[in-house]
Amino acid sequence: MSLLITGGTIVTASDLYQGDVLVEGERIVQIGAHLTVPADKVIDAKGRYVLPGGIDVHTHLDMPFGGSTSADDFESGTIAAAHGGTTTIVDFAIQYKGQTLHHAWNTWMKKAEGKAAIDYGFHMIITELSNQVEQEMDALVGQGVTSFKLFMAYPGVFMLDDASIFRALLRTGENGGTICMHAENGGVIDVLVKKALAEGKTAPKYHALTRPARAEGEATHRAIALAEMAGVPIYIVHLSAAEALEMVTEARDRGLPAYAETCPQYLFLSYDNYEEPGFAGAKYVMSPPLRAKETQDRLWRGLAFNDLQAISTDHCPFCMKEQKELGTDDFSKIPNGAPGIETRMSLVYDGGVRTGRISLNRFVELTSTSPAKIFGLFPRKGTIAPGSDADIVVFDPTRTMRLGVKTLHMKVDYNPYEGREVTGVTETVISRGKVIVDGGTFSGRAGAGSFLKRSTR
Ligand SMILES: [Zn+2]
Repeated sequence: MSLLITGGTIVTASDLYQGDVLVEGERIVQIGAHLTVPADKVIDAKGRYVLPGGIDVHTHLDMPFGGSTSADDFESGTIAAAHGGTTTIVDFAIQYKGQTLHHAWNTWMKKAEGKAAIDYGFHMIITELSNQVEQEMDALVGQGVTSFKLFMAYPGVFMLDDASIFRALLRTGENGGTICMHAENGGVIDVLVKKALAEGKTAPKYHALTRPARAEGEATHRAIALAEMAGVPIYIVHLSAAEALEMVTEARDRGLPAYAETCPQYLFLSYDNYEEPGFAGAKYVMSPPLRAKETQDRLWRGLAFNDLQAISTDHCPFCMKEQKELGTDDFSKIPNGAPGIETRMSLVYDGGVRTGRISLNRFVELTSTSPAKIFGLFPRKGTIAPGSDADIVVFDPTRTMRLGVKTLHMKVDYNPYEGREVTGVTETVISRGKVIVDGGTFSGRAGAGSFLKRSTR
Protein backbone atom coordinates (compact mmCIF):
# COMPACT_ATOMS: atom_id res chain seq x y z
CA MET A 1 0.00 0.00 0.00
CA SER A 2 1.51 3.34 -1.07
CA LEU A 3 0.27 6.84 -0.47
CA LEU A 4 1.32 10.10 -2.08
CA ILE A 5 0.59 13.45 -0.44
CA THR A 6 1.00 16.16 -3.05
CA GLY A 7 1.38 19.90 -3.17
CA GLY A 8 1.25 20.68 0.53
CA THR A 9 3.53 22.87 2.62
CA ILE A 10 5.69 20.51 4.64
CA VAL A 11 6.45 21.84 8.10
CA THR A 12 8.94 20.33 10.53
CA ALA A 13 10.65 21.82 13.58
CA SER A 14 13.28 23.29 11.27
CA ASP A 15 11.92 23.41 7.69
CA LEU A 16 9.06 24.89 5.70
CA TYR A 17 8.77 24.07 1.99
CA GLN A 18 6.46 22.88 -0.76
CA GLY A 19 6.80 19.21 -1.54
CA ASP A 20 5.30 15.77 -2.05
CA VAL A 21 5.59 12.95 0.47
CA LEU A 22 5.61 9.31 -0.58
CA VAL A 23 4.59 6.67 1.95
CA GLU A 24 5.12 2.96 1.44
CA GLY A 25 3.66 0.63 4.03
CA GLU A 26 4.10 2.26 7.42
CA ARG A 27 7.02 4.56 6.60
CA ILE A 28 7.85 7.71 4.71
CA VAL A 29 10.19 6.68 1.89
CA GLN A 30 10.66 9.77 -0.23
CA ILE A 31 10.15 13.54 -0.20
CA GLY A 32 10.59 15.68 -3.29
CA ALA A 33 9.25 18.36 -5.59
CA HIS A 34 6.61 17.04 -8.01
CA LEU A 35 7.20 13.33 -7.44
CA THR A 36 5.97 11.35 -10.44
CA VAL A 37 5.78 7.94 -8.84
CA PRO A 38 2.62 5.83 -8.98
CA ALA A 39 0.76 5.38 -5.70
CA ASP A 40 -2.32 3.46 -4.58
CA LYS A 41 -3.82 6.59 -3.07
CA VAL A 42 -3.15 10.28 -3.64
CA ILE A 43 -4.04 13.04 -1.19
CA ASP A 44 -4.09 16.56 -2.57
CA ALA A 45 -2.74 18.82 0.18
CA LYS A 46 -2.60 22.05 -1.81
CA GLY A 47 -3.09 25.05 0.45
CA ARG A 48 -2.64 22.86 3.55
CA TYR A 49 0.17 22.22 5.97
CA VAL A 50 1.65 18.73 6.09
CA LEU A 51 2.74 18.26 9.71
CA PRO A 52 4.24 15.40 11.70
CA GLY A 53 1.46 13.83 13.79
CA GLY A 54 1.00 15.41 17.18
CA ILE A 55 2.58 13.73 20.19
CA ASP A 56 0.82 14.14 23.53
CA VAL A 57 3.07 12.87 26.32
CA HIS A 58 0.60 13.47 29.14
CA THR A 59 -2.76 11.69 29.06
CA HIS A 60 -4.82 9.74 31.59
CA LEU A 61 -7.16 7.33 29.82
CA ASP A 62 -9.24 4.87 31.84
CA MET A 63 -7.64 6.13 35.04
CA PRO A 64 -9.18 5.55 38.48
CA PHE A 65 -9.07 8.69 40.66
CA GLY A 66 -10.90 9.54 43.87
CA GLY A 67 -13.67 6.96 43.52
CA SER A 68 -14.22 7.63 39.80
CA THR A 69 -12.58 6.66 36.50
CA SER A 70 -11.62 9.13 33.77
CA ALA A 71 -14.41 9.18 31.20
CA ASP A 72 -12.37 8.33 28.09
CA ASP A 73 -10.92 4.86 27.74
CA PHE A 74 -8.18 3.98 25.24
CA GLU A 75 -10.71 3.66 22.44
CA SER A 76 -12.70 6.88 22.77
CA GLY A 77 -9.65 8.82 23.96
CA THR A 78 -7.35 7.84 21.11
CA ILE A 79 -10.09 8.36 18.49
CA ALA A 80 -10.65 11.86 19.89
CA ALA A 81 -6.89 12.41 19.83
CA ALA A 82 -6.76 11.38 16.17
CA HIS A 83 -9.55 13.81 15.26
CA GLY A 84 -7.44 16.54 16.80
CA GLY A 85 -4.27 15.63 14.89
CA THR A 86 -2.49 13.61 17.56
CA THR A 87 -1.05 10.27 16.44
CA THR A 88 0.96 9.25 19.52
CA ILE A 89 0.23 9.43 23.22
CA VAL A 90 2.26 8.55 26.28
CA ASP A 91 -0.14 7.65 29.09
CA PHE A 92 0.57 6.87 32.75
CA ALA A 93 0.50 3.44 34.37
CA ILE A 94 0.06 3.65 38.14
CA GLN A 95 1.80 1.51 40.73
CA TYR A 96 -0.57 1.37 43.68
CA LYS A 97 0.92 0.74 47.10
CA GLY A 98 1.93 -2.87 47.60
CA GLN A 99 2.07 -3.57 43.85
CA THR A 100 5.05 -4.20 41.62
CA LEU A 101 5.79 -1.92 38.67
CA HIS A 102 5.30 -4.85 36.31
CA HIS A 103 1.83 -5.50 37.69
CA ALA A 104 0.97 -1.86 36.97
CA TRP A 105 2.46 -2.02 33.48
CA ASN A 106 0.53 -5.20 32.63
CA THR A 107 -2.69 -3.63 33.91
CA TRP A 108 -2.30 -0.61 31.64
CA MET A 109 -1.15 -2.67 28.65
CA LYS A 110 -4.44 -4.58 28.95
CA LYS A 111 -6.43 -1.33 29.10
CA ALA A 112 -4.86 -0.21 25.79
CA GLU A 113 -4.73 -3.51 23.91
CA GLY A 114 -7.41 -3.92 21.26
CA LYS A 115 -8.65 -0.40 21.97
CA ALA A 116 -6.01 2.19 21.10
CA ALA A 117 -6.47 3.58 17.59
CA ILE A 118 -3.07 5.33 17.59
CA ASP A 119 0.36 4.37 18.91
CA TYR A 120 1.01 4.66 22.62
CA GLY A 121 3.68 4.39 25.26
CA PHE A 122 3.63 4.51 29.04
CA HIS A 123 5.32 6.44 31.79
CA MET A 124 5.36 4.55 35.09
CA ILE A 125 4.02 6.31 38.19
CA ILE A 126 5.96 5.17 41.26
CA THR A 127 4.17 5.58 44.58
CA GLU A 128 6.38 3.33 46.70
CA LEU A 129 10.11 2.88 46.29
CA SER A 130 11.90 -0.23 47.59
CA ASN A 131 15.10 -1.98 46.51
CA GLN A 132 12.97 -4.31 44.42
CA VAL A 133 11.18 -1.39 42.76
CA GLU A 134 14.56 0.17 41.91
CA GLN A 135 15.56 -3.04 40.15
CA GLU A 136 12.22 -3.07 38.35
CA MET A 137 12.93 0.46 37.10
CA ASP A 138 16.02 -0.88 35.33
CA ALA A 139 14.03 -3.75 33.80
CA LEU A 140 11.27 -1.44 32.58
CA VAL A 141 13.78 0.88 30.92
CA GLY A 142 14.99 -2.17 28.99
CA GLN A 143 11.40 -2.93 27.98
CA GLY A 144 10.76 0.53 26.58
CA VAL A 145 9.10 2.19 29.55
CA THR A 146 11.87 4.74 29.91
CA SER A 147 10.27 7.43 32.05
CA PHE A 148 8.87 7.53 35.57
CA LYS A 149 6.51 10.00 37.15
CA LEU A 150 6.81 10.95 40.79
CA PHE A 151 4.51 13.11 42.90
CA MET A 152 5.42 15.79 45.42
CA ALA A 153 1.64 16.24 46.00
CA TYR A 154 -1.28 14.05 47.22
CA PRO A 155 0.20 12.86 50.57
CA GLY A 156 -0.93 9.37 51.53
CA VAL A 157 -1.92 8.54 47.95
CA PHE A 158 0.82 9.31 45.43
CA MET A 159 3.35 11.50 47.27
CA LEU A 160 6.94 10.35 47.71
CA ASP A 161 9.32 11.81 50.30
CA ASP A 162 12.50 13.61 49.25
CA ALA A 163 14.70 10.60 50.06
CA SER A 164 12.71 8.32 47.75
CA ILE A 165 12.65 10.97 45.03
CA PHE A 166 16.41 11.38 45.33
CA ARG A 167 17.00 7.62 45.15
CA ALA A 168 14.81 7.33 42.05
CA LEU A 169 16.69 10.22 40.42
CA LEU A 170 20.04 8.57 41.21
CA ARG A 171 18.76 5.34 39.67
CA THR A 172 17.94 7.05 36.36
CA GLY A 173 21.56 8.24 36.32
CA GLU A 174 22.47 4.55 36.00
CA ASN A 175 19.67 3.21 33.79
CA GLY A 176 19.17 6.18 31.46
CA GLY A 177 15.51 6.76 32.32
CA THR A 178 13.88 10.14 32.87
CA ILE A 179 12.04 11.35 35.96
CA CYS A 180 8.88 13.39 35.36
CA MET A 181 7.72 15.38 38.36
CA HIS A 182 4.34 16.58 39.56
CA ALA A 183 5.75 19.56 41.45
CA GLU A 184 3.40 20.96 44.08
CA ASN A 185 4.08 21.01 47.84
CA GLY A 186 1.49 18.44 48.93
CA GLY A 187 2.04 18.96 52.67
CA VAL A 188 1.27 22.67 52.52
CA ILE A 189 -1.73 22.12 50.25
CA ASP A 190 -3.17 19.49 52.60
CA VAL A 191 -3.06 21.92 55.54
CA LEU A 192 -4.67 24.68 53.47
CA VAL A 193 -7.45 22.36 52.24
CA LYS A 194 -8.31 21.19 55.77
CA LYS A 195 -8.31 24.80 57.02
CA ALA A 196 -10.61 25.97 54.21
CA LEU A 197 -13.08 23.14 54.78
CA ALA A 198 -13.10 23.83 58.55
CA GLU A 199 -14.02 27.43 57.73
CA GLY A 200 -16.95 26.24 55.58
CA LYS A 201 -15.27 27.17 52.30
CA THR A 202 -16.53 24.36 50.07
CA ALA A 203 -17.04 25.91 46.57
CA PRO A 204 -14.94 24.79 43.58
CA LYS A 205 -12.85 27.99 43.59
CA TYR A 206 -11.28 26.93 46.90
CA HIS A 207 -9.56 24.15 45.01
CA ALA A 208 -7.45 26.89 43.39
CA LEU A 209 -7.20 29.08 46.47
CA THR A 210 -5.72 26.21 48.50
CA ARG A 211 -3.05 25.42 45.89
CA PRO A 212 -0.93 28.59 45.77
CA ALA A 213 1.42 29.28 42.88
CA ARG A 214 4.27 29.41 45.40
CA ALA A 215 3.57 25.78 46.39
CA GLU A 216 4.32 24.89 42.76
CA GLY A 217 7.34 27.23 42.66
CA GLU A 218 8.78 25.70 45.82
CA ALA A 219 8.33 22.11 44.66
CA THR A 220 9.74 22.90 41.21
CA HIS A 221 12.79 24.44 42.84
CA ARG A 222 13.21 21.42 45.13
CA ALA A 223 12.73 18.93 42.29
CA ILE A 224 15.40 20.63 40.19
CA ALA A 225 17.76 20.89 43.17
CA LEU A 226 17.36 17.16 43.91
CA ALA A 227 18.05 16.34 40.23
CA GLU A 228 21.06 18.65 40.26
CA MET A 229 22.48 16.86 43.33
CA ALA A 230 21.82 13.50 41.65
CA GLY A 231 23.45 14.77 38.45
CA VAL A 232 20.52 13.82 36.20
CA PRO A 233 17.96 15.57 33.97
CA ILE A 234 14.44 16.29 35.18
CA TYR A 235 11.14 16.99 33.40
CA ILE A 236 8.48 19.05 35.17
CA VAL A 237 4.96 18.08 34.08
CA HIS A 238 2.02 20.48 33.59
CA LEU A 239 3.86 23.61 34.66
CA SER A 240 1.24 26.29 35.34
CA ALA A 241 2.73 29.02 37.53
CA ALA A 242 5.11 31.87 36.73
CA GLU A 243 6.81 31.08 40.07
CA ALA A 244 7.62 27.58 38.75
CA LEU A 245 8.71 28.83 35.33
CA GLU A 246 11.21 31.17 37.03
CA MET A 247 12.82 28.14 38.70
CA VAL A 248 13.13 26.24 35.41
CA THR A 249 14.49 29.32 33.63
CA GLU A 250 17.05 29.95 36.37
CA ALA A 251 18.19 26.31 36.24
CA ARG A 252 18.48 26.30 32.44
CA ASP A 253 20.44 29.57 32.55
CA ARG A 254 22.92 27.73 34.77
CA GLY A 255 23.15 25.00 32.14
CA LEU A 256 21.17 22.33 33.99
CA PRO A 257 19.17 19.76 31.99
CA ALA A 258 15.82 20.91 33.40
CA TYR A 259 12.82 20.49 31.07
CA ALA A 260 9.18 21.38 31.44
CA GLU A 261 5.86 21.15 29.65
CA THR A 262 2.78 23.31 29.96
CA CYS A 263 -0.77 22.60 28.76
CA PRO A 264 -3.35 24.54 26.71
CA GLN A 265 -5.58 25.07 29.74
CA TYR A 266 -2.88 27.20 31.36
CA LEU A 267 -2.48 29.21 28.14
CA PHE A 268 -6.17 29.84 27.42
CA LEU A 269 -8.08 29.60 30.72
CA SER A 270 -7.51 31.31 34.07
CA TYR A 271 -8.57 31.57 37.70
CA ASP A 272 -11.55 33.65 36.54
CA ASN A 273 -13.19 30.44 35.29
CA TYR A 274 -13.56 29.26 38.91
CA GLU A 275 -15.77 32.30 39.54
CA GLU A 276 -18.38 31.07 37.02
CA PRO A 277 -21.82 30.79 38.68
CA GLY A 278 -23.04 27.85 40.74
CA PHE A 279 -20.99 24.66 40.49
CA ALA A 280 -19.62 25.46 36.99
CA GLY A 281 -16.16 26.14 38.44
CA ALA A 282 -15.86 22.35 38.95
CA LYS A 283 -15.25 21.97 35.20
CA TYR A 284 -11.83 23.47 35.73
CA VAL A 285 -10.83 21.61 38.89
CA MET A 286 -7.44 20.16 37.99
CA SER A 287 -4.01 20.14 39.61
CA PRO A 288 -2.17 22.42 39.39
CA PRO A 289 -5.14 24.78 39.15
CA LEU A 290 -5.70 27.51 36.58
CA ARG A 291 -3.70 30.62 37.47
CA ALA A 292 -4.11 34.39 37.24
CA LYS A 293 -4.69 35.61 33.68
CA GLU A 294 -1.37 37.51 33.62
CA THR A 295 0.44 34.15 33.85
CA GLN A 296 -0.57 33.28 30.28
CA ASP A 297 1.84 35.82 28.75
CA ARG A 298 4.67 34.48 30.91
CA LEU A 299 4.04 30.93 29.73
CA TRP A 300 3.91 31.97 26.06
CA ARG A 301 7.23 33.74 26.57
CA GLY A 302 8.64 30.58 28.14
CA LEU A 303 7.47 28.57 25.11
CA ALA A 304 8.96 31.07 22.65
CA PHE A 305 12.35 31.19 24.42
CA ASN A 306 12.63 27.44 25.04
CA ASP A 307 12.33 27.59 28.82
CA LEU A 308 9.32 25.33 28.20
CA GLN A 309 9.92 22.50 25.71
CA ALA A 310 6.55 20.85 25.18
CA ILE A 311 2.80 21.34 25.20
CA SER A 312 0.86 18.29 26.34
CA THR A 313 -2.72 18.05 27.57
CA ASP A 314 -2.98 16.25 30.93
CA HIS A 315 -6.22 14.95 29.37
CA CYS A 316 -8.15 13.50 32.31
CA PRO A 317 -11.87 13.99 31.69
CA PHE A 318 -14.59 13.58 34.29
CA CYS A 319 -18.24 14.26 33.52
CA MET A 320 -20.05 16.94 35.51
CA LYS A 321 -22.89 14.48 36.06
CA GLU A 322 -22.12 11.84 38.68
CA GLN A 323 -18.35 12.51 38.61
CA LYS A 324 -17.55 16.18 39.28
CA GLU A 325 -20.84 16.19 41.23
CA LEU A 326 -19.17 14.07 43.91
CA GLY A 327 -17.77 17.36 45.21
CA THR A 328 -20.94 19.48 45.25
CA ASP A 329 -20.55 20.13 48.97
CA ASP A 330 -16.78 19.73 49.21
CA PHE A 331 -14.32 20.94 46.56
CA SER A 332 -11.72 18.41 47.74
CA LYS A 333 -13.99 15.58 46.51
CA ILE A 334 -14.22 16.90 42.93
CA PRO A 335 -12.23 14.52 40.69
CA ASN A 336 -9.20 16.43 39.38
CA GLY A 337 -8.90 16.76 35.62
CA ALA A 338 -10.38 18.09 32.39
CA PRO A 339 -10.64 17.04 28.73
CA GLY A 340 -8.13 18.34 26.17
CA ILE A 341 -6.70 15.51 24.05
CA GLU A 342 -8.65 16.61 20.94
CA THR A 343 -8.33 20.39 21.09
CA ARG A 344 -4.57 20.87 21.64
CA MET A 345 -3.34 21.36 18.08
CA SER A 346 -6.08 23.76 16.96
CA LEU A 347 -5.93 25.81 20.17
CA VAL A 348 -2.15 26.20 20.05
CA TYR A 349 -2.13 26.96 16.33
CA ASP A 350 -4.94 29.50 16.68
CA GLY A 351 -3.73 31.15 19.88
CA GLY A 352 0.01 30.74 19.29
CA VAL A 353 0.89 30.79 15.60
CA ARG A 354 -1.88 33.04 14.28
CA THR A 355 -1.20 35.63 16.98
CA GLY A 356 2.54 35.59 16.25
CA ARG A 357 3.49 34.33 19.72
CA ILE A 358 5.32 31.32 18.28
CA SER A 359 6.43 30.38 14.76
CA LEU A 360 4.96 27.57 12.71
CA ASN A 361 8.19 25.59 13.19
CA ARG A 362 8.05 26.14 16.94
CA PHE A 363 4.42 24.93 16.94
CA VAL A 364 5.56 21.63 15.40
CA GLU A 365 8.51 21.44 17.78
CA LEU A 366 6.36 21.97 20.90
CA THR A 367 3.54 19.63 19.91
CA SER A 368 5.58 16.84 18.30
CA THR A 369 9.35 16.99 17.77
CA SER A 370 10.58 18.05 21.17
CA PRO A 371 8.42 15.60 23.18
CA ALA A 372 9.56 12.86 20.77
CA LYS A 373 13.18 13.71 21.48
CA ILE A 374 12.80 14.03 25.24
CA PHE A 375 10.90 10.73 25.54
CA GLY A 376 12.92 8.50 23.22
CA LEU A 377 10.64 8.39 20.17
CA PHE A 378 12.71 10.46 17.74
CA PRO A 379 13.32 10.11 14.77
CA ARG A 380 10.76 7.33 14.39
CA LYS A 381 8.15 9.86 15.50
CA GLY A 382 8.13 13.65 15.61
CA THR A 383 9.25 14.61 12.12
CA ILE A 384 8.62 14.18 8.41
CA ALA A 385 11.68 12.45 6.99
CA PRO A 386 12.50 9.33 4.95
CA GLY A 387 12.56 6.37 7.33
CA SER A 388 10.25 7.93 9.90
CA ASP A 389 6.82 6.45 10.63
CA ALA A 390 4.21 7.90 8.32
CA ASP A 391 2.33 9.72 11.09
CA ILE A 392 1.16 12.75 9.17
CA VAL A 393 -1.46 15.44 9.64
CA VAL A 394 -2.89 17.46 6.78
CA PHE A 395 -3.88 20.68 8.51
CA ASP A 396 -6.05 23.42 7.02
CA PRO A 397 -4.81 26.75 8.41
CA THR A 398 -7.74 28.72 7.02
CA ARG A 399 -10.70 26.65 8.16
CA THR A 400 -12.56 27.71 11.28
CA MET A 401 -14.40 25.56 13.78
CA ARG A 402 -16.34 26.18 16.96
CA LEU A 403 -15.24 24.01 19.86
CA GLY A 404 -18.01 22.38 21.80
CA VAL A 405 -19.18 19.16 23.36
CA LYS A 406 -21.53 18.46 20.43
CA THR A 407 -18.85 18.60 17.71
CA LEU A 408 -15.94 17.03 19.59
CA HIS A 409 -15.44 13.31 20.20
CA MET A 410 -14.26 13.08 23.80
CA LYS A 411 -16.69 11.08 25.98
CA VAL A 412 -17.42 13.83 28.48
CA ASP A 413 -20.48 16.00 29.04
CA TYR A 414 -18.87 19.44 28.87
CA ASN A 415 -15.97 21.20 27.21
CA PRO A 416 -13.87 23.85 28.96
CA TYR A 417 -13.64 25.83 25.69
CA GLU A 418 -17.35 25.57 24.80
CA GLY A 419 -18.24 28.07 22.07
CA ARG A 420 -14.68 29.19 21.40
CA GLU A 421 -13.90 29.66 17.71
CA VAL A 422 -10.52 28.49 16.42
CA THR A 423 -8.96 28.84 13.00
CA GLY A 424 -6.72 25.94 11.96
CA VAL A 425 -8.32 22.51 11.72
CA THR A 426 -7.03 18.96 11.31
CA GLU A 427 -8.38 17.57 8.05
CA THR A 428 -6.69 14.24 7.32
CA VAL A 429 -4.69 12.07 9.70
CA ILE A 430 -2.35 9.26 8.75
CA SER A 431 -1.08 6.80 11.34
CA ARG A 432 1.77 4.51 10.24
CA GLY A 433 0.70 4.88 6.61
CA LYS A 434 -3.04 4.37 7.13
CA VAL A 435 -5.59 7.16 6.78
CA ILE A 436 -7.42 7.19 10.10
CA VAL A 437 -9.23 10.52 9.84
CA ASP A 438 -10.48 11.58 6.44
CA GLY A 439 -12.13 14.98 6.09
CA GLY A 440 -13.19 14.93 9.73
CA THR A 441 -14.49 11.35 9.73
CA PHE A 442 -12.74 8.57 11.64
CA SER A 443 -11.75 5.77 9.29
CA GLY A 444 -9.25 3.95 11.51
CA ARG A 445 -9.73 1.01 13.80
CA ALA A 446 -9.74 0.55 17.56
CA GLY A 447 -6.80 -1.71 18.34
CA ALA A 448 -4.69 -0.59 15.38
CA GLY A 449 -2.36 1.35 17.69
CA SER A 450 0.88 -0.31 18.81
CA PHE A 451 2.79 -0.14 22.07
CA LEU A 452 5.91 1.95 21.53
CA LYS A 453 9.14 0.72 23.05
CA ARG A 454 10.92 3.98 23.78
CA SER A 455 14.67 4.42 23.94
CA THR A 456 16.73 6.09 26.63
CA ARG A 457 18.09 9.54 26.00
ZN1 LIG B 1 -1.53 14.33 34.86
